[in-house]
Amino acid sequence: MDSHTVFISLGSNLGNREKALKDAVNSLSPDVTPTAFSKIYETPPWGYDQQPTFLNQVIRVKTALPPFDLLDKLKSIEKDLGRRPTFRYGPRLIDMDILFFDAIVISSERLTIPHPEIENRAFVLVPMMDIAPDFIHPVSCRPITNLAKDVSKKKIKEYQPKEEIGRDHA
Ligand code: AMP
Repeated sequence: MDSHTVFISLGSNLGNREKALKDAVNSLSPDVTPTAFSKIYETPPWGYDQQPTFLNQVIRVKTALPPFDLLDKLKSIEKDLGRRPTFRYGPRLIDMDILFFDAIVISSERLTIPHPEIENRAFVLVPMMDIAPDFIHPVSCRPITNLAKDVSKKKIKEYQPKEEIGRDHA
């Protein structure tokens, strides 16, 4: 079976945020295997200001699942972990987005890969810098290091985990 390399962003701003990231990572197996973890960052809300700060992390995974099956899996993990629908950019217990899937480009109603907001989001580019600074965006053909120069990193603070997260998967 083909093995794909995928980058997934994780975010949480409700409840025990650190546990939500950890539970999301632990729910990926057996068909999705984490292979690298960024540090965790505390970041201001995006899109809608009146809500708590987020914890964000990016992970690299290996999987044989095709893109839409992976999306279904991530959405079902979000649901299982207790995410309830709010409004666009509203607070969420856990959010999992597919950032990159190999060098695949998909533009459909349900799924856009690479994720269309990558270039605008320091909370994605800063953690990507931890684990894949040389990864080339397959549409703009710019490496992550170059994309990261164009966003303000001022408000992206490294977060000190209270528990070890993801180390057992590395
Ligand atoms: P969200 O509010 O971030 O959970 O995303 C809402 C919807 O965005 C999902 O139900 C997906 O169908 C859609 N979507 C489009 N592109 C992506 C992507 N690259 N990763 C995750 N969700 C995506």
